[in-house]
Amino acid sequence: MSQYKKILVGIDLSEDSTAVVQRGRDIADHNGAELHLIHVIEPLSFAYGGDIPMDFSGIQEEIHQQATQQMRRFAESNKVDLPHQHIVLGKPEVEIHAKAKELGSDLIVVGSHGRHGLALLMGSTANGVMHGAHCDVLAVRVGK
Ligand code: AMP
Repeated sequence: MSQYKKILVGIDLSEDSTAVVQRGRDIADHNGAELHLIHVIEPLSFAYGGDIPMDFSGIQEEIHQQATQQMRRFAESNKVDLPHQHIVLGKPEVEIHAKAKELGSDLIVVGSHGRHGLALLMGSTANGVMHGAHCDVLAVRVGK
């Protein structure tokens, strides 16, 4: 059986992230693999840029600081070193693919809410990550 060597876990920093990171940690321990965490911050300008003539840099910096603190918390309780904690700006599925490629990850782990109906049609980050990934993707069932 093939073994994973470098695992990248996407976390949205919600409470569901605990289960997702723990699953990544378990697989990493069983495979003797490196574990990396990534959180992607979507720039406010993506959502409001064209419509509201405003400088978002202060708020964006605040969001970055908060995200960094929360990332440290998840990382510390799952023994993930500082150089393996990644916070980047962009669109989650795009940046998760890019980081997986950059690191040479052989497994990406994300959470999945197992949506139905309209919500499923509208897509999810897990779906986005699954499509176009160059390595295995594990969708960990979270929430209800
Ligand atoms: P969602 O489709 O938004 O419910 O997210 C499903 C999963 O995608 C989450 O449990 C995370 O594993 C991952 N994910 C969502 N948003 C982000 C983000 N901003 N940064 C990193 N991973 C994310």
